[in-house]
Amino acid sequence: MNYNLVSKKELKAWLEDKLVNELGTRPETASDALYYKALSMVVVELLREKNRRFQVDTNSHGRKQVYYLCMEFLMGRSLKNSLYNLEIVNEVRDVLADYGVKLEALYDYEPDAGLGNGGLGRLGACFMDALATQDYPAMGYSICYEYGIFKQKIVDGWQTELPDCWLPGGEVWLAPRPERSVDVHFGGEVEEFWDNNYHHVNYKNYTTVRAVPYDMFVSGYNSKGVSRLRLWKATSAGFDMESFNRGDYVNALGANSMAEAISKILYPNDNHNEGKALRLRQQYFLVAASVGDIVNRHMATYGTLDNFADKVAIHINDTHPTLAIPELMRILLDDCGYNWDVAWNTVTRVFAYTNHTVMSEALEKWNEDLFASLLPRIYQIIREINNRFVYDLYNTYHLDCGRVEEMAIISGRTIRMANLCVMACHSVNGVSKLHSEIIKRDVFRSFYEIMPQKFTNVTNGIASRRWLYQSNEGLTQLLRDTIGNGWLRDMSELTKFNKYADDKRVLGRLEEIKLQNKEAFADYIKKTTGVSIDPHSIFDAQVKRLHEYKRQHLNALHILSLYQWLKANPNAEFTPHTFIFGAKAAPGYFLAKQIIKLICTLRDVIEKDPAVREKLRIVYLEDYRVTLSELLMPAAELSEQISLAGTEASGTGNMKLMLGGALTIGTYDGANVEIAEHVGEENMFIFGMRAEEVESLKGHYSPRAIYNGNRTIKAALDAINKGIGGNAFPDIYQSLVNSDPYMVLRDFDSYAATQRKAMATYADQVKWQQMSLRNIAESGYFCADRAIHEYAQNIWNLR
Ligand SMILES: *Cc1c(COP(=O)(O)O)cnc(C)c1O
Repeated sequence: MNYNLVSKKELKAWLEDKLVNELGTRPETASDALYYKALSMVVVELLREKNRRFQVDTNSHGRKQVYYLCMEFLMGRSLKNSLYNLEIVNEVRDVLADYGVKLEALYDYEPDAGLGNGGLGRLGACFMDALATQDYPAMGYSICYEYGIFKQKIVDGWQTELPDCWLPGGEVWLAPRPERSVDVHFGGEVEEFWDNNYHHVNYKNYTTVRAVPYDMFVSGYNSKGVSRLRLWKATSAGFDMESFNRGDYVNALGANSMAEAISKILYPNDNHNEGKALRLRQQYFLVAASVGDIVNRHMATYGTLDNFADKVAIHINDTHPTLAIPELMRILLDDCGYNWDVAWNTVTRVFAYTNHTVMSEALEKWNEDLFASLLPRIYQIIREINNRFVYDLYNTYHLDCGRVEEMAIISGRTIRMANLCVMACHSVNGVSKLHSEIIKRDVFRSFYEIMPQKFTNVTNGIASRRWLYQSNEGLTQLLRDTIGNGWLRDMSELTKFNKYADDKRVLGRLEEIKLQNKEAFADYIKKTTGVSIDPHSIFDAQVKRLHEYKRQHLNALHILSLYQWLKANPNAEFTPHTFIFGAKAAPGYFLAKQIIKLICTLRDVIEKDPAVREKLRIVYLEDYRVTLSELLMPAAELSEQISLAGTEASGTGNMKLMLGGALTIGTYDGANVEIAEHVGEENMFIFGMRAEEVESLKGHYSPRAIYNGNRTIKAALDAINKGIGGNAFPDIYQSLVNSDPYMVLRDFDSYAATQRKAMATYADQVKWQQMSLRNIAESGYFCADRAIHEYAQNIWNLR
């Protein structure tokens, strides 16, 4: 089927119309920046029209809708993705060529929509693509942050943060829908009274914030579907005329900026919750606007909420949007007059929850007093949910008070969002097999014991086409020449590539393609930093948020030990190595920033040492983001996935790198376990403790004993402590020697030995390319299309 909506001739006329009539320029004289804008406007109109047709189709069949709530969507750029997914990239390239404009030059005018921190936000973005590609009617909801994830600048080796002002340039992708605005209430008081057995609440003296939606469209590939990401911007609900008329100009405007603060900025923490009031406001703002909108949309189609649970699935992605649960209760009880049991039945059928982390500092808890004053009615509803739940735990499940206390939603003056989510949702899933097992036997064990049927797994996936078809032209062509085009729509067809594992010609082409991609990446590094890296050295990449559990410091410690070894053995054989790091640290995360400085210090020390720098080089990629990952993934050869076993819920960077043919050096953690199941352990480099070993070592782990007994580790750590290149890192040293919460020292030897094994393998390029081919061929399972299909069938019950 051909979903092409437009011919080359029409495109040309349309583009000219935008340039002339909307941007006030002429095709002959317009700058590339204006071409970018005009082309984007044309594409948005195409997307909007495709979406309109898809909506008509969806509504006429009364199809169940899925709504995906998430505080983060790390969308990256839209132009290239849209052109490829709408399958008009060649037509557009031709049209532009007629004016002497290069399409590829226009892409760089688009800023990344960085409305997320890392993996969680990128997952949401990948899912929008997969939902549309499979024609599932879906809407994502988030906040239209004026400032996305900060821009990272490395100054003298230290991370500094600059505001990410993405709207000039990014705004063209947003379609405002002011007529769909929703009012959200904060603060105030609640009065309750009874009238003939009817319970009434009167909520008054609240502050109103208006949520205005902006839609971003994501087309599916070769499909009818379009997903919509509805982003809410906070504005004050009109001007406070009363204050203004009293002459209180300052307060009238103050309310305005209080409201606007809600959608001003994305919190730059990954896997960490600060418990700040503004963050709670953001969370309630998102869910109240979204649930309000979902109800409005449902009422417009069906005129009743009686069939709400049959036609609506709402997904809570991580605990951040948990308040959607009491918010829907509020609407059903207070606005629609349903009784508690009917309302609760609807709510528990509608919501499903995905857990993304087992780390306690990320599990959200709110101070009860803060919560009660900010959201008094929601607080009452949560208390009622909790009372009934606790009653049930005692009387239906006969649990003892220790167990009840552990499972309660409210305890010790805090409200635990994860507990509310797990007890209320009909489905709770982890994001890899291992992670889903851990939540059952660890964090949510007590819940699992009394409600095992709601626990399930959906292993994460990625928008494979973005990192292959759109970013890796050489590999795309090789796949077309060998296994055809079917994999573009059905990534499981990549397994056909396995047939070529012994084909010398194909292996040779793989090697050539990798070299070309490495050269392109080296050009970027040269252009942006002035440093020349050797495209014949192995490209070893660790790119992800900076976090102790991800153990960038294990990598750094190993590089330091290599450096010391090369100084002692200057004539030894050594595979030239380029270590590539890319990572942002949360601005308030002290040790993470120290680790960045340590890596940059090592980089500088090596760079000043002519005896070593041709063998060992470090590149620190500034401002790692989706668009940079699209350049790096096709060029990387070794994928560092070295988190402490049991800490990384899934990882998706591992999947992107595998798809580009990189081999994984990693622990048995998250989705690495399943990558090993698919490619076979012989096609990757596994090292370190398993999750069970980690568990059994807790409580009697002694990093100091390892430090004292291991000369390599001691030498590297002493250098960190005493100073390298004039910089000392006593805090990193102390942390590792005294507590080492992520057991870096324990896994060090195993990691170093496995690095040596990888280097030995790299020397045999036929063998290496064969392993690489196996990884590419088995990466189809890790496509978001597969993950979304599982959500749709097993959790949302679509079709
Ligand atoms: C995929 C991706 C991530 C997630 O990487 P992990 O290795 O899974 O932590 C983070 N940031 C960006 C920009 C990504 O594209």
